[in-house]
Amino acid sequence: MSEEAEGSESGTQETEDQEEGQSNEETKEEREEVEEQEKPDEEKTLEEFIEEHLEHTGHAGFKIRYQGKVIYIDPYDISGSDAEEADIVILTHYHFDHADSKSLDKIVGAKTVIIGPSASTISQEDIEYGLIDQKCEKYLSRLRSVSNGETLSLNGITINAVASYNKEAAEHPRGKSNGYVITIGGVKIYHAGDSDTIPEMYRLGEIDVALLPLAGPGQMTPEGAAEAVRLIKPKVVIPMHYGTSIDGMKIGSDDEGNRFMKLINDYGLKTKVIIK
Ligand SMILES: [Zn+2]
Repeated sequence: MSEEAEGSESGTQETEDQEEGQSNEETKEEREEVEEQEKPDEEKTLEEFIEEHLEHTGHAGFKIRYQGKVIYIDPYDISGSDAEEADIVILTHYHFDHADSKSLDKIVGAKTVIIGPSASTISQEDIEYGLIDQKCEKYLSRLRSVSNGETLSLNGITINAVASYNKEAAEHPRGKSNGYVITIGGVKIYHAGDSDTIPEMYRLGEIDVALLPLAGPGQMTPEGAAEAVRLIKPKVVIPMHYGTSIDGMKIGSDDEGNRFMKLINDYGLKTKVIIK
């Protein structure tokens, strides 16, 4: 940004003066602009953070907008004002309701970083059963792949890939999908992917916001999700992956969210449920 001014030979000493100097005025102005747009995060409550920065775009899809960065997780059926160019797209696995080419067409630009499990996790069976949107191929060829246990840091955002699988249902075998713990602005957001309640959830560490799937077999039932809340102890939980109509078929009834909320109350858990 200040290459020209700092390129001069005399610029090697008097570092402090330089910081006051012309070359940094621009930086200061920019900083002030940022401060005007965003109240400092230390002063925000978690609920304000969620309200301002975390949007449930539908199904298992979420959008995080934070300090000018746009991050999508599992974008599905993205439309209208929900669609903007992403800095990062994070995919849990490649079933069509998580890796949707029409959504990716709207949000992936030349500089978008796409993160997900290796494309080799796509099985022949998944393809034969029509679970894969094959038009995603062009995006998977530029994938930054991560496996369970790996961590990436990008633009001050930490993305930790964690286990996400079904213990009994065959759709999401162990090791092929990722859940993610995303740390942004000091807030830890956990997206479970299409996992059911698994013991690894106990070891996620402190989680501020958990995003848990409620559609039943292949994900969690509301009871399973309440059990997951017991393991994770997040401050806030947002249920997802229910009430979606896919090709005229309803995935998990609209009522699952309310049933889940009631269970959290009945169990006396302190976690706040937000339905978005
Ligand atoms: Zn799914």
